[in-house]
Amino acid sequence: MSFSGDAKEELARVMPRRRCCQLAELAALIRMDGLLQVGRGRLIAILVTTDSASVARKVFRLVKSVFRLQARIVVRRKRRLKKSNDYVIILPVRGERPDLLKDLGIKAENGNFFFVANEDLVKRQCCRRAYLRGAFLGGGSVNSPEGTYHFEIITDDESHAEKLCDLFQRFKLAPKVSRRRTWFIVYLKESDQIVKMLSIIGAHTALLDFENVRIVKEMRNQVNRLVNCETANLTKTVNAAVRQVEMIKLIARTRGLTKLPQPLRDVAELRLQYPEASLKELGEMLSPPVGKSGVNHRIRKLEHMAEEIR
Ligand SMILES: [Zn+2]
Repeated sequence: MSFSGDAKEELARVMPRRRCCQLAELAALIRMDGLLQVGRGRLIAILVTTDSASVARKVFRLVKSVFRLQARIVVRRKRRLKKSNDYVIILPVRGERPDLLKDLGIKAENGNFFFVANEDLVKRQCCRRAYLRGAFLGGGSVNSPEGTYHFEIITDDESHAEKLCDLFQRFKLAPKVSRRRTWFIVYLKESDQIVKMLSIIGAHTALLDFENVRIVKEMRNQVNRLVNCETANLTKTVNAAVRQVEMIKLIARTRGLTKLPQPLRDVAELRLQYPEASLKELGEMLSPPVGKSGVNHRIRKLEHMAEEIR
């Protein structure tokens, strides 16, 4: 299963203990995936559709616990994609039930029913977490940390996107919103923020997996940077040494190394013998030993000489 799927499986099994949080999570799930079935100006049923059996079970349990109602689950087989099914949880609404409408943030007006922001649902911090968890289960996804860091919740309701942004910000997260046709995407891009969000909604196993991959990934990047840097230095040293050998050979061919002053001759002969040695190493091989800058100085003189010959 995908990283996102695993996170959802984990969160589908988290059952909030308090009724206030159970209601908040259920309301979020219904707002994300719910459909209000209306007949003759009355709300007949609430239908929640999900492709996850675990999420369906969760909605069923929440409905039972919060409203003492028995929902029905219908499995719809997808013809084209044989692998996954759709689960429809049908929550029948008998009688007026103004309490239920108010609790779920559903407003009735002239026989129409629609969702409104219900501030009571997210008054407490515990309920805000539960609401975000429900919203993620209903329309969220999170990329595997192996790839690009990305966490998002998608809704087709602009005011709900704003509400979600507000909730993100309550936890000191800085979400961005983008629009894709009729959809509004509330998303996070920074790994630190995604880790925080996973913790807020209670996806602790997903969080640990995310952190493990992130650490390995960042370490690998760091090692690559170091290796690249060392390779670059090494290439520079080798190129310089190759140039030095060529110029010493030129001097040897034209003037002869035996004509050189002893200090220059020593360095020139050592360089020919050890083309891959660094200046520091060459200096250590001289007797008496000479520092890197001393060797560099002699090499410069040899370069001058070669320039004149050329
Ligand atoms: Zn609560």
